[in-house]
Parts: sequence; C-alpha cells; structure tokens
Amino acid sequence: MNNRIDISYWVEAKATSAVRRFYPSAVAKELSIPINIVFEKLVDMVRDGKLDLLWEVICPECYRACSIDTSQDAKLNLECECVAGHTFVVGIDNIVPSFQITNNYISKARENSKKKEQSLRLMPV
Ligand SMILES: [Zn+2]
Repeated sequence: MNNRIDISYWVEAKATSAVRRFYPSAVAKELSIPINIVFEKLVDMVRDGKLDLLWEVICPECYRACSIDTSQDAKLNLECECVAGHTFVVGIDNIVPSFQITNNYISKARENSKKKEQSLRLMPV
C-alpha cells in the first residue's frame, strides 16, 4: 500500500464533495498515516497547485480561530485580537496549518469523476 497515493485519493474525493478546507490531522486520522508523511505530501500538492496552505491563528484563551492568513508564511509576533476580544501575540503555539482545495483542482477532480462515471456506464452489463 502506498501512503502517498492514498492521500491523493483522499484529497480527490474531498474535491468532489462539499469539503473545501481541512486539517492535515483529519487526513492522518482517517487514513492512519503518520502526520509528518501527510504534511509532506500535502505540501507537494500545494506546489502542484492543487491545494493552498493557510495558517489559522487560534486564540490561546478561547481556542477560536482568530484570523486566517492567506500568505504561505505564517506571521509570527503580530498582535492579534479574537472575536471575544482577547489580545495576544502570535507565536508558534497559536498557529495551525490548514489546507484549502484550489478551484482549479476542484474542477479537474469533478471532470475526472464524470469521466469515470461515463466509462462505467459504457461497460457492457
Ligand atoms: Zn479568545
């Protein structure tokens, strides 16, 4: 069994569903693959333009996501205020990576699944 292929299939399946964004921990848990392998593969998929890496800032007081940084580099040492009004300085403990499926990859994955359906229908019963 090839873990990296499993991860591609997982992401492709999500791309044809309503899921747009997910945490690497969800993939690791569902597929029982170590998180470091999952993360590496997902970063490869960012390079391929299939995913965007987003850093979420989590409030240390109430654990609510406080803002989403769309740049690839997490910004540390910035002051941040959550919806409940807690202010804190963003550090390595307050940020979690999440991945968003790109629109481009979603349309490709949907096309692929349509093609698969059509070829199944064409098969003689
Ligand atoms: Zn808070």
